[in-house]
Formats: sequence, C-alpha cells, structure tokens
Amino acid sequence: MSADNWRDCLRCHREAKESWQRAAAAARGAYGNVPMAEYESLKAAADSPPDVEAETLREDYETWIDDAGVFRVTYKASCDKCGFHFEFRTDAPTSEAAASPL
Ligand SMILES: [Zn+2]
Repeated sequence: MSADNWRDCLRCHREAKESWQRAAAAARGAYGNVPMAEYESLKAAADSPPDVEAETLREDYETWIDDAGVFRVTYKASCDKCGFHFEFRTDAPTSEAAASPL
C-alpha cells in the first residue's frame, strides 16, 4: 500500500543538526591541541552541512464517518531511518450517531 504522504523527518533533522554541532565543538576544542592534519579533518567535518535524506517520514491518514454515524480520524507516521513512530486516533459521534438506522 502506498503512503498518503512523505515528508522530512523532524527527528532525523534534529539528530543531524546535533551531530553537526558536536562536530563543530570537537573542531573548536581540537584547535591547537591535536596535530594539524587531525584538526583539519575535524574542521572539514564541521564545515560540511549535515547530510540528511529528504522525505523519509511516511504518513498515512484517513477521516470518515462510519455506518454508525461516528466521525473517525486515524493518523500514523513512521521513519525507517531513525525509528520515529507516532499514531493518533480519535472518534467523535455526529448528531446522527444515536439515530443511525445502520
Ligand atoms: Zn527519522
């Protein structure tokens, strides 16, 4: 079954940003404390923008009024890259819920 939507994963982007910040801190801390070649390697890592794969978050959702007159909403998001997973479901009776002949 195909997804209803694909979007960028917030957790993947946050983790990439944090990793990049750690690389920058490592480079700053290494300056003058490690051999130049090692510093240059750390600096190159810190100067490279984070490489984050786009649209890894799969979204599936559905809204409908069932035969009993109940409005239903389901939403599920999951990312195969980082394992983020979220689900939401809610039901609300419409004015026809109690009177539904079905
Ligand atoms: Zn992710």
